[in-house]
Amino acid sequence: MEQLILAKCGEIVLKGLNRSKFDLMLIKNLKRSIADLGEFDISLAQSTVYIRSLSGADMEEVFARTKRVFGFAAVCMAYMCEKSMESILGLAPECLAETLEEVNTFKVEAKRSDKRFPLKSPEICREVGGELLKSFPHLRVDVHHPDVTVTVEVRDFGAYIHAVREPGAGGMPYGSNGRACLLLSGGIDSPVAGYMMAKRGLKLTGIHFFSPPYTGERAKQKVVTLAKELQAYCPGMKLHVVHFTEAQEAIRDHCSEEYFTVIMRRMMMRVAYELMKKTRSGALITGESLGQVASQTMDALQLTDSVTNALVLRPLIGMDKEEIVQISRRIGTFDTSIQPYEDCCTVFTPKHPKTKPTLRDIEREEAKLDIEGLVDRAVHLNYEIIE
Ligand code: ATP
Ligand code: MG
Repeated sequence: MEQLILAKCGEIVLKGLNRSKFDLMLIKNLKRSIADLGEFDISLAQSTVYIRSLSGADMEEVFARTKRVFGFAAVCMAYMCEKSMESILGLAPECLAETLEEVNTFKVEAKRSDKRFPLKSPEICREVGGELLKSFPHLRVDVHHPDVTVTVEVRDFGAYIHAVREPGAGGMPYGSNGRACLLLSGGIDSPVAGYMMAKRGLKLTGIHFFSPPYTGERAKQKVVTLAKELQAYCPGMKLHVVHFTEAQEAIRDHCSEEYFTVIMRRMMMRVAYELMKKTRSGALITGESLGQVASQTMDALQLTDSVTNALVLRPLIGMDKEEIVQISRRIGTFDTSIQPYEDCCTVFTPKHPKTKPTLRDIEREEAKLDIEGLVDRAVHLNYEIIE
């Protein structure tokens, strides 16, 4: 009894002439995410990707990984047999036993893309349904609200039977919409922001600002762990760690305290913008949500945006904290995010921040800094890449 996985393509089925570019990327990403599990035969037909193991892989693990590949709407654990009614009726009770023993009602759906197959879809359903009722006398058919839907697909190369269908990761293939740099702090929000844009097909490079000795090694490790957790969705994502101590000390020593936060955030954006260009990325991504804290009001965001020409994507801007937390639990970053290590944003925070600083105030304060030198050293010297 051969088990295989059928992954159903999502939004890319709406693509027109350039569809094949997205298909290729989807398959490349899938191959990469399961490469260490063995050899596979992977093919695409009728918006379904067929994944067969050639080396006895752990198919439960292949299933779990496939569910995290952006671009699939649904993933099914399926079984395959020869394209004859006899084989289908022989296989169905055997391969579905585990699933059907635990439920009370079912229905059968058939998809017949091979129009030469002698039976039409309703006949296939009737025969398979009858066979299952014989094998599992406790079952009843319920066409409206079945506990389980059994699907029989008769395709060119064989017949497939499945009853386990779970939602895929959705979105667009990772990397199919270009690259962007994610400003990754240790908090709850920025990993979620990265996940959301990766889901829309952006390939991510993480940037983390780190200020030793004010922030410790464990704070950095926490961000490295977050980046690893994101790699489950963003294969090969790299993390650039920028040492920000010199810039933060310069701000502390030369600028008026009430403007520290805004000046620091503008400094981060300048450095991130340089790294964006260096990594040939097209945007910056941050985890801000409107009004969540004082540095995320419209005025404050305007001040941080106006310092570069970067396109800044803020996928969480209209979301509540609770919604963000839910996603972070689902994608597996929450437990790491809530570890209590200091972020460089909390170093030198002013006691009385100016609530409505103007651009003129900020520019006056920034004139006291050697901005070019600080940015240049952050980008070229005080810098490491973690793979
Ligand atoms: P998060 O939960 O992502 O830390 P936050 O609610 O703490 O966000 P801020 O501290 O205002 O918000 O930071 C806003 C955004 O700026 C973050 O979501 C992140 O994208 C970026 N950011 C903040 N601190 C850092 C850092 N040390 N390194 C890289 N990016 C940062
Ligand atoms: Mg934070």
